[in-house]
Amino acid sequence: MQYYEPNFVDEALVLLDRFAPGARVLAGGTLLGPQLRSDPRGADTIVNIKRIPDLSDVTLDGDRLTIGAVVTARELAEHQLVRRHAPLLAEAAASLGARQLRSVATIGGNLCSGHPAADLSAALLASDAFCLVSNIHEGPREIALEAFLRPRSHAMESGELLTGIALPGSTAGAAYAKMQTRRAFEMALVAVAVRFAGSQDGTIEDARIALAGAAPTPLRAARAEAALNGRPPSPKTFAAAARAAAEHDAKPYTDRRASAEYRRHLVFVLTERALAEAQLR
Ligand SMILES: Cc1cc2nc3c(=O)[nH]c(=O)nc-3n(C[C@H](O)[C@H](O)[C@H](O)COP(=O)(O)OP(=O)(O)OC[C@H]3O[C@@H](n4cnc5c(N)ncnc54)[C@H](O)[C@@H]3O)c2cc1C
Repeated sequence: MQYYEPNFVDEALVLLDRFAPGARVLAGGTLLGPQLRSDPRGADTIVNIKRIPDLSDVTLDGDRLTIGAVVTARELAEHQLVRRHAPLLAEAAASLGARQLRSVATIGGNLCSGHPAADLSAALLASDAFCLVSNIHEGPREIALEAFLRPRSHAMESGELLTGIALPGSTAGAAYAKMQTRRAFEMALVAVAVRFAGSQDGTIEDARIALAGAAPTPLRAARAEAALNGRPPSPKTFAAAARAAAEHDAKPYTDRRASAEYRRHLVFVLTERALAEAQLR
């Protein structure tokens, strides 16, 4: 197995192109490390992107927040720009795994893993985020996160690199609710990210609800969002939206950790809870 540590994005893109399709990107390594230990034939070339300075920036341009692909969950949880302009993302990042894990797990790895219960993916879906993807032939192009996520995978071609994530800053009320059995060691069973603003006439507008652990990929809960928009924020409205999320949007699955039926129940409970919390913020 060959191992490279490029210092520039262009250098990484040349390596990924030259060694495709056997090259794998290494970021925090919390998922790739165990995968390669159990099956070393899963890659013939490793391109470690952690030492590329351009990929670890967090910048604000107007109201657009851009986050480099190797920014860690801990940095997201603590960074003042993220806390102020994307509090939902900061909250989800603070809930990810244990402190040691948060210090190495990257935002790019979270999205590229395509894990159904990835915390940052859910928070970013509810934040209208875009993925910035580059290859050796073209500079960053934007892919809406919804189109980027695939079950246990992503929409990039071999030889491509996720260089960052961009999202509009938002101070709308937001909350992240999740259910897990062992906080430090396991992914959420189900997590729900919500964000909404109030309009001048006191009704809800621009509602965003994203579910993790409720379908083969994290997803936006379109029926639940429709049940909120244009209605006054109230326990009755929140219960109707939570029902829509559980009964129509969720496509829950059964695995060794929980049944589909239990996951559906969690979607209802957590959506209702997150909406009530978001209203108070
Ligand atoms: C004990 C434990 C607990 C965990 N708990 C949680 C949890 O609570 N919540 C949660 O969401 N996740 C959890 N995870 C999963 C994981 O740690 C996170 O999803 C993390 O963010 C993955 O990032 P990474 O940098 O470690 O990815 P890596 O392992 O480095 O990479 C993961 C995959 O993405 C690809 N990749 C990474 N970066 C890029 C890029 N920029 N461009 C192209 N491809 C890329 C890699 O090639 C690999 O296929 C847990 C994992 C463990 C082992």
